[in-house]
Amino acid sequence: MKKIQMVDLRSQYDKIKVEADAAMQEVISQSAFINGPQVRLFADELEGYLNCRYVIPCGNGTDALQIAMMALNFKRGDEVIVPAFTYIAAVEVIALLGLKPVFVDVDADTFQIDISKIETVITAKTVAIVPVHLFGQCADMDAITKIAKKHSLKVIEDAAQSLGSIYTFPDKEKCQSGTIGDIGITSFFPTKTLGCFGDGGALFTNDHDLAEKMRMISSHGQKKKYHHHSVGINSRLDTIQAALLRVKLKYLDQYLQARNFVAEAYDKAFDDNPHISIPKRIAESTHVFHQYTIKLKGTDREEFSKYLASYGIPTMVYYPVPVHLQVGYQSYGHQVGDFPVSEKLCQEVISLPIHSEMEPEDLNHIIKTINTFFE
Ligand SMILES: *Cc1c(COP(=O)(O)O)cnc(C)c1O
Repeated sequence: MKKIQMVDLRSQYDKIKVEADAAMQEVISQSAFINGPQVRLFADELEGYLNCRYVIPCGNGTDALQIAMMALNFKRGDEVIVPAFTYIAAVEVIALLGLKPVFVDVDADTFQIDISKIETVITAKTVAIVPVHLFGQCADMDAITKIAKKHSLKVIEDAAQSLGSIYTFPDKEKCQSGTIGDIGITSFFPTKTLGCFGDGGALFTNDHDLAEKMRMISSHGQKKKYHHHSVGINSRLDTIQAALLRVKLKYLDQYLQARNFVAEAYDKAFDDNPHISIPKRIAESTHVFHQYTIKLKGTDREEFSKYLASYGIPTMVYYPVPVHLQVGYQSYGHQVGDFPVSEKLCQEVISLPIHSEMEPEDLNHIIKTINTFFE
């Protein structure tokens, strides 16, 4: 039997090998490694998939966040609101640009930024909210959009984990995650819902001027070769990655369906288990299950994960430490107790294997083993 993995990239590749190899080989034959035609073609196709006017490819998701915040002209000391329970990238970029991260606790059941707490931290210096669509479903974008409008704040959606998830507004308008705020970003890191074979990322916007600016910043601040209009960075999507992503984009909906199949099986298996709380679905959003993350109740997490490991089942803790308590971010002066929900989640959460290639027998093995642990 094949080893069970959190994400099975190899089996996914095997299924598209002929097409993927041909697409990458074509780039090598053409040898247009930087800004080859496939980069523009991929951006066009992703614009179509997302129904978004401008997709700007770049080097990775973290760069995308930086380009977004540079394009919005935030100044040193400006405050940007971010969830306390999240991946570090947005907070890191805020810090690097000399901005101030202002943390907000999250909802204990959906893991998304707690919209009831956002307005309590808004000050005259607040310039933006960065909702992170954690684990693959959208934060409450209707509420976030309204708060941003009321206080004239920008919204940068971190859709690195949620590419393909769809949010439905009360008026029934449906939007792809990442296309709702002023700017959205995503990552094509191999394990994301649309992953490439290395690093990659992109920015989304419907604003023409912002799109131009972000294109310029991602290319050394130049509009024309060797004419630099602003300080920029060097952040590009490799042509080889773009060629591969064009192939994989065609299968994205299939991949998301397969992830949902696994999630539904887990939901059904663990819904009645008093020791497990299954991830709560947000009614307004579809879920792409970048992670299937449960909370353990009255159970030793270490013991649980060791038990599963002994049966060949890997698990991961996303995330073990909330951002406000990370050692590198102590200068913002936070302490234990500041964001109790995030802190508690860091103790309770554990993510189970989920990916597009899960074999039914592996899924059954995981479910049975977990049920046996609680017997
Ligand atoms: C993966 C990820 C990023 C960063 O993407 P990279 O391409 O690795 O730089 C940013 N935010 C979130 C929430 C992520 O999961």
